[in-house]
Amino acid sequence: MRPSVLDKLFAPITTLPGIGPRMAPLYAKLAGERVVDLLWHFPSGLIDRRHSPRTTDAQTGQVVTLTLTVLYHDKPSSSRRPYRIHCLDGDTPVTLVYFHAKEDWLLRLLPPGEQRVVSGTIDRFQDEFQITHPDHVVPLAERDQIMTIEPVHPLTGGLTERPLSRAIEAALERCPDLPEWQNPAWLAKNHWKPWLDSLKIAHHPQTVEAVEDSPERRRLAYDELLANQLALMLVRNQMRTSKGRPLAASGELRQRVMESLPFTLTKAQQRVLTEIDADMSQPIRMLRLLQGDVGSGKTVVALLSMCSAIEAGAQAALMAPTEILARQHYATIKPLAEAVGLQVRLLTGRDKGKARDSILADLADGTAHFALGTHALFQKDVQFKDLALAVIDEQHRFGVQQRLDLTAKGRAVDVLAMTATPIPRTLMLTAYGDMDASRLDERPPGRKPVDTRILPLERFDEIVTGLHRPLAAQARVYWICPLVEENEDLDLAAAVERARVLEQFFPAKVGLVHGKLKSAEKDRVMAAFQAGNLDILVATTVVEVGVDVPEATIMIIEHAERFGLSQLHQLRGRVGRGDRASSCLLLYGHPLSDAAKKRLEVMRATDDGFVIAEEDLLLRGGGEVLGTKQSGLPEFKIADLTKDGDLLNAARDDSKLIVNADPDLTTPRGQTLRTLLYLFDRDAAVKTLRSG
Ligand code: ADP
Ligand code: MG
Repeated sequence: MRPSVLDKLFAPITTLPGIGPRMAPLYAKLAGERVVDLLWHFPSGLIDRRHSPRTTDAQTGQVVTLTLTVLYHDKPSSSRRPYRIHCLDGDTPVTLVYFHAKEDWLLRLLPPGEQRVVSGTIDRFQDEFQITHPDHVVPLAERDQIMTIEPVHPLTGGLTERPLSRAIEAALERCPDLPEWQNPAWLAKNHWKPWLDSLKIAHHPQTVEAVEDSPERRRLAYDELLANQLALMLVRNQMRTSKGRPLAASGELRQRVMESLPFTLTKAQQRVLTEIDADMSQPIRMLRLLQGDVGSGKTVVALLSMCSAIEAGAQAALMAPTEILARQHYATIKPLAEAVGLQVRLLTGRDKGKARDSILADLADGTAHFALGTHALFQKDVQFKDLALAVIDEQHRFGVQQRLDLTAKGRAVDVLAMTATPIPRTLMLTAYGDMDASRLDERPPGRKPVDTRILPLERFDEIVTGLHRPLAAQARVYWICPLVEENEDLDLAAAVERARVLEQFFPAKVGLVHGKLKSAEKDRVMAAFQAGNLDILVATTVVEVGVDVPEATIMIIEHAERFGLSQLHQLRGRVGRGDRASSCLLLYGHPLSDAAKKRLEVMRATDDGFVIAEEDLLLRGGGEVLGTKQSGLPEFKIADLTKDGDLLNAARDDSKLIVNADPDLTTPRGQTLRTLLYLFDRDAAVKTLRSG
């Protein structure tokens, strides 16, 4: 249960004065639907209204606060023309300009003959000083109230600064003074203030520097990181203490599979398998992340790990994010499995009726030793006789809940999560805490580095002409058109057009796959490309090219500047898989920003996924890495991992101490930490507590 002290903060935003049903969606878009969400909407800049020069000394475009004497109102004959109010600053005329304003309101605000303090942006129009729509107009007695530094916030269309600031102030006023959750010695060491004070100060920065960074912001960032790390640590602790099962395998089955492989394992593959074996033979549940670049050979590691579970008399499952990938795994694994007398079943969303029933029956009675498939594997009616190992390919494409659903299908299921997206260590920590990780940091032998070039899109004709020779020599080409998420239809149109143009040069040799294609049609095109009936595959997304076509040696990426580094790296990894030399052309359009230029340069300079991931973090900042939505990494509202990395490490150490000393958060500090977890929406972690 959420502590009731937080109720006011978790109320809908419409409980704040001035936010009705009409404005609520705008606030929701900008910050969130609850009062608490406004607390994390910090200023992005400042307006200093203390600047109060003589009008004649004021610079055009500056925000100034002036004391003016109102002379007379000049009401326009047509409502389309502005209403002008003529005033004086000493001897200098200043005109206040209003559009669409009501006369009686203006007469009350600025009565002729009286003095008013006016603050706004000053402009000069043909030697005349003007302020259009002043921000503030107050009587002299209230001068001090507007001679201040005012924060400005990120906005969204339809929502202006004034109502937003007011809403944020109202949210701050509602903030209860929460009991301190931080260690007092740690607070003192950093000279940090209590939470509520820090929050209020952080919302009212007094200098431009403080907008970006201040002790108060750091403290709040630390609160957020502590909530993140503590939640991960609690979940992990629960997994640790829930019983696992030791899987004893002699390795005989694995040995037979290895003997039928057309290659020997790399050192990295062997090392990783040893790490996995050690986990699986322990009576605690395995939760291990296997990171390995595209083409590093994760599939065979998965297969050999599954052999251990099967040899111990249980079943294993491998889940892939797309139908194409599931089928590809099936095609690779089935012959190897059958050669040693193992039964595999493939289950995807496309299996229906009798065929599906028969697959389910085989999984339930143990006829099938292992299952490959998509999300379809964790549907309700799918049952295993005895599932002991779940391998999750491209794990970032699945939610935490989905991963849990699959492991709930067995008893103390070990989990091996695989990813081809190398995650920098900092981000690893925020997403997985101290989850065990193995790295496949070596490629299978014989791979040649991909020759990467950066070219302007204008050289299209030349590039197309250049394709004739490699195509005559049986090369195959991926041609990627960019996906800009905001407008899928336009992206699609660009890809269709590209395919059409290429078709003119290479008749009957061009295929097109994109996200809106039916999966059967997608498979058909992919199969034709794999079989060599098509030479060029035009594709819109990364998803569709997640397949292994060793003959493909050329990767062309249009508008490469629009892709993130990790995406580019993933795409390039589709070539260079066979023993022939491969190339990658990064075609850029204009304008090319400095950041985009750097990204392309990084691609040319290295093909090490881990180096690329670190560069990505530096170039873009944590939240944006890996394409935010797809990454499955947590986004932070306050913390910025490019500068708060030190705090992340401290938060991890702190969490460890807390969970060791008070695993169920029952001490007085533990209780305050529960409040912290709720404050940052980490309730799921609280539910793992025994007295949650
Ligand atoms: P990924 O890590 O991207 O999933 P895969 O498992 O698909 O990589 O492996 C890529 C290719 O490398 C496959 O064709 C696979 O058969 C091959 N492969 C895997 N391990 C080795 C190895 N030790 N030696 C040679 N080829 C290997
Ligand atoms: Mg793979």
